Amino acid sequence: MMITTQTDSESAFFAKTKLLPCLRESPGTRDIVAGLGRDDITKEHIITPAMFIQIQGPSLSGLQSKTIHYILNDEMWRWKKGTMAEILRRANAVRNKKVLSVSQGGEQIANEYGESDWDEWGAWWHQGTQKIFHVQCPHCEKYFSPETRREDDGKFILCWDETPETRNIETKEWNWKAVRQTVRMQCPECDGVIENRERVRRELVQNWKYVQTNFNNSPGHESFRYSGYTLWWRDWADIIESFLRAKDSLRRGSIEELKAFTQKEEAKFWTIKDKEIPIVNTKGAAGYRVEDYDKGAAEEAPQINGEDQRFGFADMQKDRFPVCIRAFGGGGSRLVYCEELQKIEEVDEAVKHYGLKSGAFALDVGNWKSDALDFCHQYKWSAMRGRDINNFTKTRGKRATLLVPYQRVIEYMTGKAHHVKGQKIKVLEFSNTYFKDVFSRLRAMEEHQIPDDICQLYVDSMESETKDSKRGIWRQIGKRPNHYWDCEIGITFMAFLYKLVGAPEPETEESSH
Ligand SMILES: [Zn+2]
Repeated sequence: MMITTQTDSESAFFAKTKLLPCLRESPGTRDIVAGLGRDDITKEHIITPAMFIQIQGPSLSGLQSKTIHYILNDEMWRWKKGTMAEILRRANAVRNKKVLSVSQGGEQIANEYGESDWDEWGAWWHQGTQKIFHVQCPHCEKYFSPETRREDDGKFILCWDETPETRNIETKEWNWKAVRQTVRMQCPECDGVIENRERVRRELVQNWKYVQTNFNNSPGHESFRYSGYTLWWRDWADIIESFLRAKDSLRRGSIEELKAFTQKEEAKFWTIKDKEIPIVNTKGAAGYRVEDYDKGAAEEAPQINGEDQRFGFADMQKDRFPVCIRAFGGGGSRLVYCEELQKIEEVDEAVKHYGLKSGAFALDVGNWKSDALDFCHQYKWSAMRGRDINNFTKTRGKRATLLVPYQRVIEYMTGKAHHVKGQKIKVLEFSNTYFKDVFSRLRAMEEHQIPDDICQLYVDSMESETKDSKRGIWRQIGKRPNHYWDCEIGITFMAFLYKLVGAPEPETEESSH
């Protein structure tokens, strides 16, 4: 028998904390294990007179050619492509072999030809019968799959109420206690309500069956799916709360939480369609104009409803400075200023006119030879630079490497504008890929607005770049003007630093791979 765990470092841990205690306590194996010597029972293998059990990670380094009848695969979604084929090759010649693979949902990815392709686990699962766990409605006695919403018509099965009591109309914040109380299931066939009580949940999952959805399965290959809602001891309110939090996170431009929810709670596969960047009509009709936020000669610049913070960003061109200012608050944002200015002094005036706080205005410092660093020093603006990479790495401890979307670097000022040569300045470098993804999602939402009188150059700028699905990098289409686009990306980055948009936690990855 061969057991392959999700990572190499996990296999010893799995053997020690799960497999061995289980074998030591099960009546069928207790006596066999007790009779084994020290060499027979290790973190890598268990050798009994009747069976050899190999425990390993997916890199398969320690595997020799042994006869294998039973294969157990754990959390296959984390495996590199080709691992499953390699494992099966070890057992190909064996008759009556049995393979059991258990995992959360996997992911659809773009292959080298730019077509959609399942990851290894996804391909494996889809070759099977694709049986879906169904429960019987206590009202109409029809069967349905308990999940947040039905796939074919998008009808919600797990329901909650969105009312002024459960969600603040202004701030869009949920009252968690109130909304949790409204959580219930609704049969998609008869709309009958199934209450979220332990006894009801327990009864519901007692009448179940698997419904096969693929009849062109490879022979002998069964695959199953059941979601977190099929475990009667799990409070549906917990699941819905994490769903609503994931949707909130999506409104902030981050898809990470929704992806985790889909794969872990719903046990579904994350598809290319799920992560698609929406195409939007940029010409906005949000019902306001740029001049509404111009203070004129007044003391203070007008704020948007529930304003938290406003950010400005200037792109630096040879002869001009495209500048955008966007105000965030009330669960959304508004672009309040968008101009091309000729002189650096005019940029400074705009920053003051719109009441931007210290650090909330940034200049794209581009390459290190420009005068931009000197301007940042002189006007006390933040120095920023977008880079065409997915993320930066940050080492934490011995093993773990953190993938983060930005980094701080210290640079010497080398420009000749203000004779401050030799002085150091802090520059924030951010991942263009990450923040272009976030901004693309934000601008597709009605909460993130542009004025009705937006200039054509801004509109053109929004259509100036496209994401290369093969390489996963954004690139300019021909020579389309993209300066306002760059300004918006810089602003998105600043809003991220203030935790107003994007994922709250950076991704972690093991460095051993
Ligand atoms: Zn029903």
